[in-house]
Amino acid sequence: MNSNKIIIIGAGLSGLMIAYLLQKKGFEITILEANERIGGRIQTVTGTTGVTMEMGATWFSNPHQNLIELLEDFKIPYFKQHTSGISFFETMSFVPPQKFEISDAEESSFRIEGGTAQLIEKLVEKVGLQNIKTKTKVDFIKDCEDSILITDSNGKTYSSAKVISTLPPHLLIQTIKFEPALSENLERLAKKTHTWMGESIKFAVEYATPFWRANNYSGTLYSQASIIQEMYDHTNADNKGFALKGFLNGGTYTLSQEERKEKVILQLTKVFGPEAARFVKYHEKIWREEPLTFLPYEELVMGHENNGNAEYRKSLYNNKFFISGSETASQNPGYMEGAIVAAKNIASQF
Ligand SMILES: Cc1cc2nc3c(=O)[nH]c(=O)nc-3n(C[C@H](O)[C@H](O)[C@H](O)COP(=O)(O)OP(=O)(O)OC[C@H]3O[C@@H](n4cnc5c(N)ncnc54)[C@H](O)[C@@H]3O)c2cc1C
Repeated sequence: MNSNKIIIIGAGLSGLMIAYLLQKKGFEITILEANERIGGRIQTVTGTTGVTMEMGATWFSNPHQNLIELLEDFKIPYFKQHTSGISFFETMSFVPPQKFEISDAEESSFRIEGGTAQLIEKLVEKVGLQNIKTKTKVDFIKDCEDSILITDSNGKTYSSAKVISTLPPHLLIQTIKFEPALSENLERLAKKTHTWMGESIKFAVEYATPFWRANNYSGTLYSQASIIQEMYDHTNADNKGFALKGFLNGGTYTLSQEERKEKVILQLTKVFGPEAARFVKYHEKIWREEPLTFLPYEELVMGHENNGNAEYRKSLYNNKFFISGSETASQNPGYMEGAIVAAKNIASQF
């Protein structure tokens, strides 16, 4: 068995970052990715007006130094989230929203110019598209003493001296069969490990102009009274594409898209006035319906529960199988920063 060859499962930020770091150390990498799309929980969508909208990961801040360093290495520019002007907080449906201003002293959040997908595209360019096999869903992993045997959903097999999974632990344990079985302890832990944002609903409303800015509104809205829970201005860095974007109440996945859209526009019109109804396009993504990210939990699992648990950082099958991915990171697990920290930790072991 060629010990220079490594298989990585999953082409999200963790998988791509591990591949990039291990290639730099001289390893031959193959990434197996179930989806047609590369990027996992990072997905930037371009609207009809050219605005780039994040349906997945968006923000980071100064404590996320590993991510910031990577962006700087790759010369990928980033910019401060727009928050100036009047913001709104809806506490109850039957009272008008409270107005407030976000202080300049608050820790700034940043976004990547052109969209978070810029980082994924750069990593794919570095790793080489030819080393990423998409539409390859791993179903079965077997320890064969001197190697690991992987079988995909089409029955095709792959053999490697070392294999690294970057699936969120809950998904790994629920969707892949192992022989011999992983320990009951690890199985129990993974079943109780939250996949960050797995249940979330992202929405964006594209506009021809940033009408809210003209009225000195920041575009920020927090609400515990209606469908939109949290929303921000999503204008492009070059001020050439405009949207409002945020999170809907996760429970509204039971409604139809049309019903959610109607409720969103009604809430926006109530807060920002009739101009909010003159939108270009409504976009949304229901992450809980993405089987390559989320599966329902058997019992209640709290946000970030067991994220960063040290058990995940122990190698398995006699140092041939490794569990990585953002949820396993020792710092900022669940976030993009965690995905990079986890990748660096694995790469340091080779
Ligand atoms: C809506 C949303 C908003 C977010 N907002 C932020 C934010 O603002 N800031 C922030 O820092 N983070 C945010 N995050 C979290 C961030 O996206 C993740 O931490 C990061 O992208 C995780 O990367 P990963 O590679 O560890 O996992 P993933 O991106 O989940 O990658 C795992 C990959 O494995 C693949 N896969 C799954 N099953 C199989 C299989 N059986 N075989 C082969 N491949 C498989 C998947 O398709 C996927 O590509 C957000 C996430 C979501 C969903």
